[in-house]
Parts: sequence; structure tokens; C-alpha cells
Amino acid sequence: MDQSVNPCEDFYQYACGGWIKNHPVPADESRWSRFSELNERNEAILRSILEDSSKNQDRSPVDQKIGAFYASCMNEPEIEQRGVKPLAPELERIAHISNAQDLLDETARLQQRQINVFFAFGSTPDLKDARMAIAGLDQDGLGLPEKDYYFRTDAKSVELRQKYVAAIAKTFTLIGVAPSEAEKKATVVMSVETELAKASLDVTSRRDPQKLFHQMPESQLAQLSPHFNFIEFFEQVKTPPFSTINVAVPEFVKAFSGVVAARPIGDLQDYLSWHYLHASSPLLPKPFVDQNFEFYERTLRGTKELKPRWKRCVAATDSELGEALGRKYVEKTFGEQGKERTLQMVHEIEYEMGKDLESLTWMSPQTKQQALVKLRAVTNKIGYPDRWRDYSAVDVKPDDYFGNWYRANEFEHRRELDKIGKPVDRSEWEMTPPTVNAYYEPTQNNINFPAGILQPPFYSNKADDAVNYGAAGAVVGHELTHGFDDEGRQFDAEGNLKDWWQKSDEEQFEKLTQCVVGEYGSFSPVSGIELNGRLTLGENTADNGGVRLAYMALMDDLAKKSIPPSEKTNGLSEAQQFFVGYGQDWCESSRPEMARYLAQVDPHSPGHFRANGVLKNMPEFSHAFSCKPGNAMYVANGKGCRVW
Ligand SMILES: [Zn+2]
Repeated sequence: MDQSVNPCEDFYQYACGGWIKNHPVPADESRWSRFSELNERNEAILRSILEDSSKNQDRSPVDQKIGAFYASCMNEPEIEQRGVKPLAPELERIAHISNAQDLLDETARLQQRQINVFFAFGSTPDLKDARMAIAGLDQDGLGLPEKDYYFRTDAKSVELRQKYVAAIAKTFTLIGVAPSEAEKKATVVMSVETELAKASLDVTSRRDPQKLFHQMPESQLAQLSPHFNFIEFFEQVKTPPFSTINVAVPEFVKAFSGVVAARPIGDLQDYLSWHYLHASSPLLPKPFVDQNFEFYERTLRGTKELKPRWKRCVAATDSELGEALGRKYVEKTFGEQGKERTLQMVHEIEYEMGKDLESLTWMSPQTKQQALVKLRAVTNKIGYPDRWRDYSAVDVKPDDYFGNWYRANEFEHRRELDKIGKPVDRSEWEMTPPTVNAYYEPTQNNINFPAGILQPPFYSNKADDAVNYGAAGAVVGHELTHGFDDEGRQFDAEGNLKDWWQKSDEEQFEKLTQCVVGEYGSFSPVSGIELNGRLTLGENTADNGGVRLAYMALMDDLAKKSIPPSEKTNGLSEAQQFFVGYGQDWCESSRPEMARYLAQVDPHSPGHFRANGVLKNMPEFSHAFSCKPGNAMYVANGKGCRVW
């Protein structure tokens, strides 16, 4: 903490000032937060698991997979010695494309390796019947983070695009293309991507599920795309039979088909080659790794140094064989006790949300009734999957990192496509167990807390209960509130995209969220940039609702124990400790490049505003710290933005 700061003026600085001072961003990071600290601890545990497994690959099938994968990634001499040879077969195929059929074949090959050239294709829940999975086609295929990066006209954005083109050119020279030729290719790639970007939806629009909902029969898709034969593509990638496909962005498909028709084959070959090189760079010798780092880390995020090899290999194993590694991680760190404790807190917060919903004055009894139905239908997944993914089909060799990576990708691609036409497996996880994060899945109406986050500083046996409610309870409340934010509220108790709102309640909701949009839209994380109040609305709504629910839970807990909220331990009252616990979830430092990047793509607000933005809306906070009118953090009873 920084006790020299008045909590009523800048609570974030008060709660986090000491931490920020003592935790500069490490050279190999673009941002450092309390999540990062926890992640670092998890990383060390994963490293010891992987080193042990790589020495004992014959101990069990799981040890063989993760041990051999990690060993192959750590084997730099072997990777250097193989050089660019692993790239050759695919680059040759790309070079031999001479007609529409070849282009389709190669697109299918790359997609099977999870290189989403031109578009993304996989399974997606049927939003009208979310228990079933259908086929889904979506925009993709850009090398910059999202659409708007191609069109912003400010100096920094123009410069970033120039650096991107230079990075593409430099990468081509690494496979022996002459610099002048490489520059030409890079310009072509940029222009193809710009055309795809033009027809793509931006990150903010993509938060609205209605904008991504266009179910149709295959025949209608064929009409959208006269120049790329999707029906044959689906056969090539061995898609199970289906009758309906969701085409998230029909305009994009039209534009893509237009690109295929209008562009010389050579342009599309350059585009495919670049995406193949980019995807493969981390698997190749040092010049490729370094070049990839230069643009995607140093330029885009401001990172100063490449991470040590072992950290990259831990992350790669988590990405490719996450549930095999996660299984070992859970055995080592997370007992049934942790699960019980967390579940208890989740139930308390759910109970408070019920109370909160009943007490709302702006919502009609009919909508309230529906909201309660949805709340009661929420299911919880804590820690790790009940059934572990079986990777026995993935061939992992201790000396073939390049091959291992793409074989694991092929396995995942196959697994994904095989879901089409089957019931959705709601026991499946989108995050691996060591992940320091949590999520709400609107199409399943469930909240998911990986084992990785259920540890100090988010939950600690040693901390005061008030701190645990502020730090962990607020995260639980956050995920639960996601079911009722501007996106989540469009889904019903079953996870279907179905309107259960009275018109007048919807209008009230819009009005209340406008307040949040305006509040966060006025925050500036880095000079010259303001937060996007619409992009961050769902997360901000979840933060505000989550803290309120956790605070209610603490008040109930204190009442049960007959402890007044004003009672002090360690110099702070119970209520004050709660808010410090919450504020300290968000202590962080970011490089300016990273802050800019996040402001443009991340639906979460930066830590500073996650803390202060919420507390400025809570009279309970002003009361706890005796803030007065005129203080920056002060809010009077009944004032401040509030949705839930
Ligand atoms: Zn969230």
C-alpha cells in the first residue's frame, strides 16, 4: 500500500502504490500484475513437472506426451540443426498452387494445422438450441490484432503498419528471398489483409451475439461465395455431415470470395506463405524466433527481452497438451478441500445475487422472475475437468518440436470438427487447470474457475475473511454478473440466444449501462488514448456487480458472527479490508505500448480503472473510508452508476 495517498482521492494508488513501486515490469514482460505473480509461481511448478516427466518419459503415457513435447521444445541444438528444412514441403505446395482447386487444397491443409488463413471454421453452439453443436464459419486471417489496426490514421497507427510490412519482408528474407522481392511480397500481403479487414467486424461489434448470428443451409453459403467452394472445403477437412451452418459475418465471406476472384494467384501464395512462416516461427531456429519477437512483442507490446526458453516451452506445452500437463498440476497443488471452500463461496454469492435481483426497483416482476430462473440454472465448474482429455492419438517425439506442434494442432482441429452435429459437452473446459483466470460461458450458463486462480492472493486461508471476500468473492461475483451484462443478458437459462426481457426493462437496462459506458469512456490509460466504453461495458458491468455481491456476502457473514463492519483489525475496519482486498486484485504496471494495445483490443479495463471505476460508484466505499464531498472517489447515497 501507499499510506501517503488519501484513499478518497485515488484508492488504486493507496491500495497498490507500494506494490507498483516494488514491482517494475520485468524485461521479458509487457505488463506485470498480481495475476502475473501467481502465474509465475504456477510456471515454476509446471517447469518442475515437465523436467521430471522429460527425464521419465517411460513412466506413464502422460509423462511420455508432456515429457517428450517439452524435451523437443528445449532441444535447441536439434532445432538449429534442422534449420528451415521442416518448412520446405508446405512452402513447396504453396509455390505450386496454380488454380482454384490447388488454392482450396492448400487452404484446407493449413487449416487442418490450425493456421486460420482467410477464415476460421469449426464447431459452434446452435444459438437457438445451445445443447447442440453446429458448423460455424467466421472471419479470420489477419496478421495484425484486429480490424481497426488496418484503418486508424493517427501517426502511431500508421507507423505500426509500416513496421508490420517491414516485419513480413524481413521474415521472407530468412527463407532466402531477396530483400527487394521480399518487400514486394510484404506489400501484397498487407493489401490482401486490408481487403479482408475491410469486411470484418471490429472487436466492439463482435461483442453483440446478434451481429454474429446468421444460420443458413450450405446452399446459401455457396451463393455468398461463388469463387471459393466451401462445400468442397468441408469435404477436404472431413467435416461430419450437417444441415445448418452459422456464418458469423456474411459480408466477410462475400469479400473473401471477391479476393479469391480478383487477385492473381501469386498474391494469394504470398499471403499463405506469410501466414505459414508466422505460425511456424516459434518452432524454428533463433533468427525466426527473434524476428517474431521483434514485431509481436517489442513493437506491439513494448517487451524488452525474449522470455527464457523454458518459459516459452512451458507455455507451449500448456497450449498444446494442456489437460495432460494440467492433470499433473492438479495432483500436485489442488486438493478436494480447495474445491469445497470455493464452492461454498460461490453459493454464498449466488444467494446474494438472488437477494439483489429481488430488491431491484427498476425491473418489472415478470423480467425479475425470468432473471431468477436464469440465476438458479447457473452451474459451476471448479478447479479442473471431471474427465481428462485423451491425447493418445497425438504422436509426440522427443526430437521433433516442429512436427509435435503441428500434430497436436491437427489433433485439436479434428476434435473440434468432430463436435459438429453432436450435443455440446458442457463438462469441457476452455481454460487449462493452471490458468490464472476464470470465465462465464453464456451459451452454457455456467461459471468456470480453473485451479490456477484459487490460490493466494485471490484466496488465502491465512487472510482475514474480509480480504477473501474482496479479493476472491469479487471475482466470483464478476463471473456470475456476466450472465446479466449487455452480452450475457441476451441468453436464457438454457444458454439459448432468446429474449426474456420486457421491452420497458430492456430500455431501463440500456439507460443504466449508458452511465457505465460514459464513466469508463472518460478514463485515459495512456496519453492520447481513451478507453472504449462500449468494448469494456460487459467487464465493467461484471466488476461493479461482482463487488456489490461480494460486499453483501461479507455483510451477511459479519452479521452471523456479530462483528460490526467498523471493527478494526490490523488498523483497518472489516469494510476497509474488503475494499483493499478488491483493489489489490488489480495492482499492475504496463509498458505504454501494451497499455495502448490493450485499450484497443481488450474488453477489460486496466487495473487502475477496475479498482477506482467500481469504488467511485459505491456509497458503501465512501462510507467505509469517510470520504467527503469534493474527494475524487466520493459518491453520495443513491448516486453513481449502478446496473445490478
Ligand atoms: Zn470478465
